[in-house]
Amino acid sequence: MAGKDFVFKTLLLGDGAVGKTSIRERYMGKGFSGSYSKTVGADFASQRMKVEDNNITLQIFDLAGQDAYATSRKSFYKGGQSALLIFDVQDPDSLYNLNRWIDDAVENSGGSVGTFIILGNKADLVETRQVSNEMAIDYSRQLAAKTGYTFVFLETSAKTGLNIQIAFDIITNKLLKKFNIDINLDLPEGIELISPGEAGASGGSSGDNQKEIEELNNRIKALEDKFAKLAQIVKNLVDKS
Ligand code: GDP
Ligand code: MG
Repeated sequence: MAGKDFVFKTLLLGDGAVGKTSIRERYMGKGFSGSYSKTVGADFASQRMKVEDNNITLQIFDLAGQDAYATSRKSFYKGGQSALLIFDVQDPDSLYNLNRWIDDAVENSGGSVGTFIILGNKADLVETRQVSNEMAIDYSRQLAAKTGYTFVFLETSAKTGLNIQIAFDIITNKLLKKFNIDINLDLPEGIELISPGEAGASGGSSGDNQKEIEELNNRIKALEDKFAKLAQIVKNLVDKS
C-alpha cells in the first residue's frame, strides 16, 4: 500500500506554568530550561516523521494558559484534531481545570478536537507532589464518563524526559487509527487507558457525588467571576460619580 501524507494539528492545553512549553521543547530536542517565561499568545513547532510509508507532520501549538489571551487562543483551536491535556502533579487545581480545557477546545474548534491524552507533568518533583496517580486516574474516569471521550493517562517530566516521546507517539497513533493505520507501540508501565464506560463500574455513587461537587465548584467559580466583573463595574461607576 502506498504511503500517505498527513498533517495533524495538536494543541497543548492546561493552566499556566504546568509545563506546556517545556514539554514541546523537550519533544523538539531543545532540552530543558529551568527558568519560566510566560508564553504570549501561542507558539508553534512542527515535527515530521515517517510511520511505515506515511509521512506525518505533527503541528504542535503551545497555547498560553492565561485568561488574558482568551481571544487569541480561540483562533488556534480551529482545525485542531487533538490535544495534550497537561496538569502539574504539584497542583490539584490544574488537574480539576482540565474539564474546562476540554470544553474550551471542543467548543472553539467546532468539535474537530476529539482526540485527547492526559499528562501529569513534573513527575520528577517527588517531594512537592500533591496529586497521586489514583487521584488523576479517578478524575480522568469522571472526565471520560462526562465527555464520552477515551483518555490515555501518563505521567511525564519535561525535566528528565520521562514519557515525553511516548506521549506524542500515542497521540499520533490515536490520530492514525482514525485512518485505519494501526501501529504497535511498546508502552511503558504506568499508562492507563480510560474509557467512558469505566466510571460507573468503579466510581459508584461516590463518583457521582464527586462529579456533583465538581460541577457545583465550577458553578461557584463562574459566579465568582461574574461578581468580580460586577464589582468592577460598580467601582467604575462610583469612581466616575
Ligand atoms: P507553561 O506555562 O505551561 O508553558 O509552562 P513552562 O513550560 O513555561 O514551565 C513552567 C515552569 O515549570 C518552568 O520553570 C519550567 O522550568 C518548570 N517545569 C516544566 N516542566 C517541568 C518538569 O517536568 N519538572 C520540573 N521540575 N519543572 C518543570
Ligand atoms: Mg508556555
